[in-house]
Amino acid sequence: MTMSEPERVERLGLMGGTFDPIHYGHLVAAEAARVDFGLDRVIFVPSGHPPHKTGKSITSGWDRFVMTMMAVSDNPYFDVSDIEIKREGLSFAIDTVREFKYTLEVGSEIYFITGADACLEIFSWKDSKQLLSECKVIAATRPGISRAHLREEIARLYPDFADRFFVLEVPALAISSTDIRTRVGEGRSIRYLLPESVRQYIKRRRLYRSG
Ligand code: ATP
Ligand code: MG
Repeated sequence: MTMSEPERVERLGLMGGTFDPIHYGHLVAAEAARVDFGLDRVIFVPSGHPPHKTGKSITSGWDRFVMTMMAVSDNPYFDVSDIEIKREGLSFAIDTVREFKYTLEVGSEIYFITGADACLEIFSWKDSKQLLSECKVIAATRPGISRAHLREEIARLYPDFADRFFVLEVPALAISSTDIRTRVGEGRSIRYLLPESVRQYIKRRRLYRSG
């Protein structure tokens, strides 16, 4: 931004995740959120040290960051932040939302984009009430959790915050990073589940190969 350019109010989407690896489920959800909610941009934030995945081995932050960069490079509205990769300690959404808020013009809005499964776990996240007061949540449908069930669960789990949630119907893609890692480990194809550049990177770096 140049000195003379005024800062402006914007609607920013943050897409958090482990992205180990990023796949079309993530990209479809982020794009649908951008279009339906008129977001100016969506920033993917690969988690540095996910609190809910401690004890599980995850790929280095650098590899996950690079794959995410490759995956979003052809969308001018998408970007990737290394904010959580660089931060010491566990990665908490509240810290990330606050850091972004600090850089935005007053009046800007942050929409935290999640899939249905992650959305239903927000109450277990650090300072979840503060988080819900600082940003709104877009919950994208994900195979296995119907739209009606998602609405019911949000009302049950977050009775005081139901107005902070928006349910977003996205084309159902039964793709998960877990399945992709399993496929690679078993030597099965992952073509068309994620961007080709990411598939090539996984191959080149020999990620997800057991042994
Ligand atoms: P893993 O199997 O390792 O948990 P994942 O596929 O669930 O991986 P994450 O990085 O855990 O991917 O997810 C990041 C965010 O994207 C979460 O909010 C998750 O709910 C959402 N998400 C992941 N896959 C999909 C999908 N196919 N459709 C909609 N949302 C998705
Ligand atoms: Mg997941």
